[in-house]
Amino acid sequence: MNILKQTALNLFENTLAKQGTVLAIRSWFPTTFYEVDLHFPMMDMSGWNRVQHIKIKVASGVYRDYTPAGWDVETRTCTLYIDAVQEGPGSEWVKSLSQGDAVVYVGVGATMHRPAESGKMIAFGDMTTIGHYLALQQLAGDRSISGAISIEEENHRIEFIEYFNWDITPVVQTDQGGFHGIAKWAKEKDFNNATVYLAGHIPTCVHLRKELKRTAANSIRVQGFWS
Ligand SMILES: Cc1cc2nc3c(=O)[nH]c(=O)nc-3n(C[C@H](O)[C@H](O)[C@H](O)COP(=O)(O)OP(=O)(O)OC[C@H]3O[C@@H](n4cnc5c(N)ncnc54)[C@H](O)[C@@H]3O)c2cc1C
Repeated sequence: MNILKQTALNLFENTLAKQGTVLAIRSWFPTTFYEVDLHFPMMDMSGWNRVQHIKIKVASGVYRDYTPAGWDVETRTCTLYIDAVQEGPGSEWVKSLSQGDAVVYVGVGATMHRPAESGKMIAFGDMTTIGHYLALQQLAGDRSISGAISIEEENHRIEFIEYFNWDITPVVQTDQGGFHGIAKWAKEKDFNNATVYLAGHIPTCVHLRKELKRTAANSIRVQGFWS
């Protein structure tokens, strides 16, 4: 990195960066999926009527977006659910974390997703969207969210069912974003009076949106994560 870029980056971080602390970290088996409990004393969650995302520093000058789930207003804690199946600075970062580590973030922002005012809510995505939909479920309170999340590893599907008492079905992932597994699940479902949420792998969101536009869904709300 040249000196000018490094100076601009330092200025940006010094102005915007805030810190949190890792309280605990758990991995699923196989160890490509992580739950990270964090304390963020300074986090601005004033927009917490929509699912939020935070930009975290994962290496020098490198930031990745993750979704705070289970936000507790009193303790200012949350959990991040991070898929680390790919090779990248974000997955390397989460694998390196230990209890007590400091975590630097440079901002909190709102996503396109908040609970629908009425009707059914149906959510689709891959493992990167687990935290996102847990946050949506938290905001929806007693109203149930159904849908499907594509998961490649059989044991991860088992853990998903064991850990979450949820109306969301883990479906077998046979392609990069899980399009085929989700489309199969969606085929038999009734979308009448439903708001559909799509998130995760961007090309999969695009293909699913095209498919689901043929249904009776009220609206389809897309939040792409990665491609
Ligand atoms: C609003 C928002 C919220 C997000 N929230 C979460 C979250 O809560 N949890 C979470 O895990 N992710 C979340 N993501 C996605 C995450 O920021 C990206 O997946 C990120 O690119 C991963 O960074 P990386 O450095 O590990 O991989 P990168 O360096 O970005 O990518 C390396 C390679 O891996 C591929 N790749 C990236 N992610 C995956 C994947 N999951 N599976 C397979 N291949 C992949 C890329 O296409 C690329 O070829 C969110 C993204 C957005 C925009």
